[in-house]
Amino acid sequence: MSNSVIRLICPNLKCRKVLSVPAHARGRNVRCRACSMRVTVPGKGAGKKQPTAVVEPTDEQLAGNEAAAASNEKTE
Ligand SMILES: [Zn+2]
Repeated sequence: MSNSVIRLICPNLKCRKVLSVPAHARGRNVRCRACSMRVTVPGKGAGKKQPTAVVEPTDEQLAGNEAAAASNEKTE
């Protein structure tokens, strides 16, 4: 898994480009190629299996906030 890629969203709300960074960049800063904003790659627990949902806030999820709240009633 050492060659895995981390995907994160640019924190610039006017950009929000999906950035793919190598796993070894955890805990470091990368620069968004679209807007040049520096982005910190989440790096705690390197080597451990992490819930990837934390670093994948996609546009669909943000836009469909109401739908997500509605489906929140469903218990898993
Ligand atoms: Zn950006």
